[in-house]
Amino acid sequence: MAELRGFVAEVLERRGAAVEAVDPDGLEVLAPERVRKALNWPELARLGFGAQRREGAIPIGLEGDWLDRFGALFGDEGRWAERQLSGGASSCGDPARLLEHGLDLPNAVWRARDVTATFTRCLMLAFRYTALSDEKREGMVWLGFNTATGADITDIAARLRRQLQHEEWQEPTPEVRTAAGPRWDGATLDARVRPALDASVKNEIAPFLRAMRRRLDRDRDRVHGYHDDLRRTSLKRLAAIGKAGTQAGGGEKADGDRRREEMRVAAIEREYRAKLDDLRRNYALRVAVEWVQTLELFVPVQRLDVLIRRRKGERLIRLDWHPLVRMLEPPVCEAGPRYADRQPGGGRRTRLVCDDYLHLVAPAALSPCPVCAKAFCRAYHPVACPRCRAPLTEGSTN
Ligand SMILES: [Zn+2]
Ligand SMILES: [Zn+2]
Repeated sequence: MAELRGFVAEVLERRGAAVEAVDPDGLEVLAPERVRKALNWPELARLGFGAQRREGAIPIGLEGDWLDRFGALFGDEGRWAERQLSGGASSCGDPARLLEHGLDLPNAVWRARDVTATFTRCLMLAFRYTALSDEKREGMVWLGFNTATGADITDIAARLRRQLQHEEWQEPTPEVRTAAGPRWDGATLDARVRPALDASVKNEIAPFLRAMRRRLDRDRDRVHGYHDDLRRTSLKRLAAIGKAGTQAGGGEKADGDRRREEMRVAAIEREYRAKLDDLRRNYALRVAVEWVQTLELFVPVQRLDVLIRRRKGERLIRLDWHPLVRMLEPPVCEAGPRYADRQPGGGRRTRLVCDDYLHLVAPAALSPCPVCAKAFCRAYHPVACPRCRAPLTEGSTN
């Protein structure tokens, strides 16, 4: 509870309260009126964080809505920040060696042309997701982009974020801002963040969904087994009544028995359908994603200009090497993030170059059309196959 007590003391002090630690596990708080009103506290409040509390102390814990209430004191403050990090190696070493590991172009050749030391803007976004079905799963997702090169640098951003904890807060200088280039506009932000966020959240909740499906299958099997047994027994009885009826030449009693049994079968079927509806409702999945925080981090980079050649065409691409974490960012997939494998490792740096416009795309974005088998570039044809017009559906990598 010491951590929670420290957090609460800091929050309250930032909001103008005088806070004193008292034992055991307590705080005495003299809060300004705004804070008192928001939390419904007396002028001098005693807070208790442990099992042993002083008399009259307000119990504070992780359960209940305390964290939400303290969070509400901040309003929208702390949602957005910008910082600069400096330092790191002053040279990336031999760019050709970096690229041998960091860029895999099976159908093109490349040559490192130039390396420039500059700064870039890393856009780091935090989202909270809540997946709710018969159980609940909550968590955070961080995304990271280099706004100058467009690269998805979620892995690099995670490492940079860890370094932040040991660094003094440094505001970006005007020169660094200029070097880092403009901020993304709303449309670019939306086009880049939305698909990456979708993929990330899907990835995060995949184990939760698998476990949910297993529970659903188990329940469905049980419900089916139970009603199937009942129905079979009834159908057997019906068959027996039919036989007995034929042998005895019909009769009112047999008719009545048959009708009763038929009604039983209908009732069992109705109940089975109702139980399936219950299961469907119980296991219906709702996923909510909420933006929590944006950090714009200005960091030094070594920018590699790389010349790419495919047949008779050539073009220049840029990749940043991040000296603070000594990592080269992955090349952008110009057909969009849904084609680029977001899983760590395995081919994330492999790109194919298209014949017509030398787009740099993940292999899945230059694969054959599943309908007519023509290979085509999804960066140039993002909506449908150019030969047979088969549409490219959202969420699939066809
Ligand atoms: Zn292309
Ligand atoms: Zn086609």
